[in-house]
Amino acid sequence: QPQINITDGRLTGFEALIRWQNQERGFVSPLEFIPAAEETGLIIPLGRWVISEACQQLRSMCDSGLIDEDVVMTVNLSVLQFQDDELIHFIQSNLKRYQLKPGQFEVELTETVLMENLEDALKKLEALKALGILISIDDFGTGYSSLGYLKRLPVNIVKVDRSFVMDIPADKEDMEITAAVIAMAHKLNYEVVAEGVETEEQLQFLESCGCDYGQGYYFSRPLPSSELEQFCDEFNLDNIRRASA
Ligand code: C2E
Ligand code: CA
Ligand code: CA
Repeated sequence: QPQINITDGRLTGFEALIRWQNQERGFVSPLEFIPAAEETGLIIPLGRWVISEACQQLRSMCDSGLIDEDVVMTVNLSVLQFQDDELIHFIQSNLKRYQLKPGQFEVELTETVLMENLEDALKKLEALKALGILISIDDFGTGYSSLGYLKRLPVNIVKVDRSFVMDIPADKEDMEITAAVIAMAHKLNYEVVAEGVETEEQLQFLESCGCDYGQGYYFSRPLPSSELEQFCDEFNLDNIRRASA
């Protein structure tokens, strides 16, 4: 799914979202099978497959000239994956294989994943950061982590949870929370991505709050690689805005 820079309208990144099309069951949501994969340990090979596929697709789009070499691919990491001692080495070898710079790769972790084992998490994040890999916190604002703790983490980006964006402009409280989260994140020197942007009104509000990036159906649904290539080829935020007006 594409991520857009709200300030200048450029396409700046993608979030890799896994899909499973099962012969009998049809489409199975990751919300259903990721927890199962986590329980069975299958998340390790599955997660590695996502990392390789994501790197390969980014390389392919760079090679086709569809995107610039500074566009970032973000991959979600679950608890077990983050605890895997081979993780960093695995990411590094894929970056090498697909000739990607560390700054073109981002890992996305929820507060829950980070809280699982704080000291170990800190060490891993520092190692990722030292390599130049980007780190973002997913579902920001929904967890229970203290701000004091978050400040210690070498994080570059926070993602404002979709549950706050969803009810803009109907819910004034959610708007205040969103504005406050963006202001606070900027104070802590994080960049901010808003998730689940679906309407022009939401985009305008986020823009007025100084939100850096947006992601959501307003720009594009998550797409399979062939459609994504077409999207990149045709992308122009002004056209999307005109179409929704
Ligand atoms: P997430 O990381 O919070 O991902 C965002 C979810 O919001 C995605 O659901 C995406 O399709 C959906 N979304 C994006 N924009 C909009 C919008 O404008 N409106 C609405 N209503 N929804 C929007 P999805 O793809 O079903 O993924 C669900 C969750 O499964 C993800 O939540 C993530 O936690 C997990 N997941 C997906 N792919 C992976 C993966 O490769 N590895 C791991 N560990 N987890 C994954
Ligand atoms: Ca995510
Ligand atoms: Ca999220």
